[in-house]
Amino acid sequence: MARTSQADLLRALPQVEEALCSPEVHALESLLPRTLLADSVRNAINEVRQNILTGSCSEVDRQAIAEDACLRALENLKPSLRRVINATGVIVHTNLGRSPLADEAVRAVLDVAQGYSTLEYNTDNLARGSRHDHIEHLLCTLTGAEAALAVNNNAAAVMMVLTEFAAGHAAVVSRGELVEIGGSFRIPDIMELSRATMVEVGTTNKTHVADYERAITSNTALLLKVHPSNYRLVGFTESVGVADLRQLADSENVRRHTTERAESATTQLLVYEDQGSGAFIRLESFGSYAEPTVAESLRAGCDLVSFSGDKLLGGPQAGIIVGSKQAIDRLKKNPLARALRLDKMTLAALEATLRLYLNPDRALQAIPTLRMLSESSAIVHARAERLAAALDSTLDKTCAHINIVPETARAGGGSLPMCDIDTFAVQISFKRGCAHDCEAYLASRAVVPIVGRIKKEALLLDARTLVDENTPEIVEALQAFFDSLCDKAAPSHKEGAQA
Ligand SMILES: *Cc1c(COP(=O)(O)O)cnc(C)c1O
Repeated sequence: MARTSQADLLRALPQVEEALCSPEVHALESLLPRTLLADSVRNAINEVRQNILTGSCSEVDRQAIAEDACLRALENLKPSLRRVINATGVIVHTNLGRSPLADEAVRAVLDVAQGYSTLEYNTDNLARGSRHDHIEHLLCTLTGAEAALAVNNNAAAVMMVLTEFAAGHAAVVSRGELVEIGGSFRIPDIMELSRATMVEVGTTNKTHVADYERAITSNTALLLKVHPSNYRLVGFTESVGVADLRQLADSENVRRHTTERAESATTQLLVYEDQGSGAFIRLESFGSYAEPTVAESLRAGCDLVSFSGDKLLGGPQAGIIVGSKQAIDRLKKNPLARALRLDKMTLAALEATLRLYLNPDRALQAIPTLRMLSESSAIVHARAERLAAALDSTLDKTCAHINIVPETARAGGGSLPMCDIDTFAVQISFKRGCAHDCEAYLASRAVVPIVGRIKKEALLLDARTLVDENTPEIVEALQAFFDSLCDKAAPSHKEGAQA
């Protein structure tokens, strides 16, 4: 008996062509290509087929299949890359796009994106210009460098510097600085890729000036210093600062010009720091954990410093290289400069962001990353209170209990790893449903995905990375989550009705 009825059910399933002709699916033909609709229909039918085979379906509802196919098809209209609300308290969150741009930067992007621009056109002499010119002067003013260049990201910048100056030669680096940044960026791998010979010196916890000194030969092209962004060695440690590396390089360069080494020597020994985060302003509130600024590294004697545009700088993704004119000129001529060059939208955002730094007080307010890093906990607390009050007045008291709790935020993006930033989070304790289901709902079903975190069965929304405009969106999404619990509890089983 059972077998016959299963076969009957399978026979009752519509053909893909039939379901495509249903009025519901047909109505979407002006919005979506037919192949996509056919895929959605096929998937909807397949799910019912699976349910029949596992015995969990006792009736084929063609109308329901068509509606399910429509919901699946409409998912395709949602952009894949879209805005999310960051309630994690991690300010430079690499998975969530690192730094939000300042309004000024966004306007600059719009302006050049919508029409033609002076990207490579000089309006003064009506001739071809260079895209480097838009930011070079600003970077020099802000860091004290002689020259500057920006490429796709800092990984590209490191790759380019190593290739230009150390390919076929040796680059000396401390074992304490052979870091992995995440996303498979590892110093030893990038050395290999650039065909530089990596000469490791010192030990994991201690490297001395003498270690570098012994390693330098006539073939040494670079003394590389890598800012160990995402971790800190504490305890019995020692590393060699830029000033000491400068002295070593100077002595070696004098030797190269005066002794027998001159003939075989690779022109000049350079000091290069991969600074990672690239702070322009010393964030004093972070005390001894504050990152060195780019200007400080240059003053200490680096020939070249590179850093990201979207970490502590708070701009778009970019890799910025500043340093001596001689070295930057060589980099500009490297074919990689063309391969890794910035597009007009990034350049516009970067220039606008850099302009804000001309007035550091303004930068701290206008650049979201800097504002979030430096905002007082009183301001963050007040923002948490406004969100908590909105949730408290909207959500049913039988659904959740709302609190404000002190928490620790993070700079993120491998910046300021030792720095605990005081913050306040809105804590949602669940009386109905649970934190894990809510977390999943907010990420996948809310109109704007909301990313928070769970601690002790409660959902935390960190106010340091939120703005007040997020409040109505968060209230609405949480309300929708609790409504969806009611729908589930009720006999009607319209899954996905909120979508
Ligand atoms: C982040 C980082 C990089 C990589 O920079 P991207 O801009 O992400 O490519 C390289 N080196 C250090 C030290 C970093 O912190």
